[in-house]
Amino acid sequence: MLVVGSGASGGWAAKCLAEAGLKVAIVEAGRPQSDSNFTEHKPAFELKYRSMAKEIVRKTRPIQSVFDVCNEYTQDWFINDFDEPYTTPADKPFNWMGRLRMTGGRTNVWGRVSLRFSDADFKAASQDGHGENWPISYSDIAPYYDLVEKYVGVTGMAEGLEHLPDGQFQPPMPLTCQESIFRERVKAKLGRTVTLARSANLTRPINGRGPCHYCGPCERGCVTHSYFNAAFTTVPDALNTGKCALISNAMVHKVLMDPATNRARGLLYVDRVTRQSHELSARVVILCAQSQESVRILLNSATREYPNGLANSSGVLGHYLTAHVRSGGGSGDFPTLGRKHTLGGPVKPVGIYVARFRNLKGQPPHKKFLRGFGYEGESSIDFNFHAPGFGAAYKKAVLESRASLDVTGFGEVLPRWDNFVEIDPQVTDIFGIPVLKIHMSDGENERAMIQDMGDSAGEMLEAAGAKNISTYAHPSAPRWALHEAGIARMGADPKKSVLNQFQQTHDVKNLFVMDASGFTSNPCQNPTLTIMALCVRSCDYLMTELKRSPSLA
Ligand SMILES: Cc1cc2nc3c(=O)[nH]c(=O)nc-3n(C[C@H](O)[C@H](O)[C@H](O)COP(=O)(O)OP(=O)(O)OC[C@H]3O[C@@H](n4cnc5c(N)ncnc54)[C@H](O)[C@@H]3O)c2cc1C
Ligand code: SF4
Repeated sequence: MLVVGSGASGGWAAKCLAEAGLKVAIVEAGRPQSDSNFTEHKPAFELKYRSMAKEIVRKTRPIQSVFDVCNEYTQDWFINDFDEPYTTPADKPFNWMGRLRMTGGRTNVWGRVSLRFSDADFKAASQDGHGENWPISYSDIAPYYDLVEKYVGVTGMAEGLEHLPDGQFQPPMPLTCQESIFRERVKAKLGRTVTLARSANLTRPINGRGPCHYCGPCERGCVTHSYFNAAFTTVPDALNTGKCALISNAMVHKVLMDPATNRARGLLYVDRVTRQSHELSARVVILCAQSQESVRILLNSATREYPNGLANSSGVLGHYLTAHVRSGGGSGDFPTLGRKHTLGGPVKPVGIYVARFRNLKGQPPHKKFLRGFGYEGESSIDFNFHAPGFGAAYKKAVLESRASLDVTGFGEVLPRWDNFVEIDPQVTDIFGIPVLKIHMSDGENERAMIQDMGDSAGEMLEAAGAKNISTYAHPSAPRWALHEAGIARMGADPKKSVLNQFQQTHDVKNLFVMDASGFTSNPCQNPTLTIMALCVRSCDYLMTELKRSPSLA
């Protein structure tokens, strides 16, 4: 079995298959990750530029560093944007961030918010008529959510919401006083649920991983392995079976086909260090390289039989790109309630989540947009850097602590044909592999939803008694993305989809794509828990099929 990528999906695929006794190779473009690279306890003054020179990071990673998890501590984990570019039309800028090249992929730096989807998501098309239903229901995936959550370790509070199902939670991290006030008043006055952001941070030890000790910057790694990162969980589990090999620095160029049998026979990859090309052979090929990268591989694997991209007899490969909009939200001041800002105190790495409250079952539909959005947020205590004045009075005022709470909307983007990726025939990366051209922009639905994100943030902050409230709602341009999905979508009809419900390509039976590119839509909840649960479900199917027919005929 060849698994391309070692992140959220690839780690699970390798673990499931190797633990079942199958021989697996993980083919990973990045370098091996190790605890010795983790710097969560390293103070900024030990860095060459004191973590103050964003321009230095921008020189090689102007796109990756738009999101501050790519910084002086972590920049080497990310691609060099000039070595591995992509293109966009001039009027549709798109920030493709989170392009990690380390074992563990994006799970090295992810925000860890782990939320289930529900039938309100899987069957949304039946409710509002847009797009397609998923080929699965909540009951198909629920046992896999259970399995993944128990292994990952998700801190959370049960709320009993049908559209945001509860999971197998570890005990919740506490809310701050300001977050508790917000939760209680928003529920009492507006009936909306504010809960702990269900998050892949441990509050109890599991599998040799320690509980979180509240040091704060999870995106720099964690020597106690207290958040979920494939690099120190699923991937080592797979390797420890003795059945799995990790091939690092291996940039997959294409899937190799045997036209006589219409089967994938292996992979062609470029060694990132030597720049030499190599071939690998296998019974089954599973792409888990993150949505755009997996689809780039399929588009670059075109053959005479599949001239528009491998497994693309439907013509939908590359289309229906979705990624959350998150450019509406707000913030406000709250009483400090005696808490003072300290440097070096404990930092809770998990904030709050406001569950979706628009267009739910039994509600009148919103007049301006379909689907919905949730908010991530947090409260913080800081020095009062905005204090007016100067001199001694100013110094005193600055030291007065100020508590604030902010919320940022995460909204569903409707799958649309004209949001798509294709190969740009004019441009290659430094390995000679043709790059993607990404066409993505907001539609009317997104614009109306972003406006409501800003307005509703203000409404909730007011209901909670916040002062100095400010809100924002601006178009998402450049298009901003870390949760991309949908460009090799699953479906029951091979004419309208690339994958079946087990993420097996309709066209080539021994070729699977187990990352978010298979999502039929991209609900407002963060995607990764569902990526992992679907991947385990698809691996179960694959193993059953292999028993039935070893050649997957
Ligand atoms: C800053 C940030 C915050 C996020 N916060 C959240 C959150 O709070 N909640 C949530 O649910 N999700 C979050 N995400 C998204 C989450 O990280 C991804 O959904 C998830 O990691 C995707 O899993 P994956 O397996 O598809 O890809 P990845 O985890 O990115 O793994 C893909 C791997 O494939 C490798 N690869 C790529 N191309 C090739 C190739 N051609 N050949 C070989 N290997 C290749 C890469 O090097 C990488 O290691 C966040 C992401 C980022 C960047
Ligand atoms: S805050 Fe917790 S999970 Fe994050 S790096 Fe520190 S100990 Fe690890």
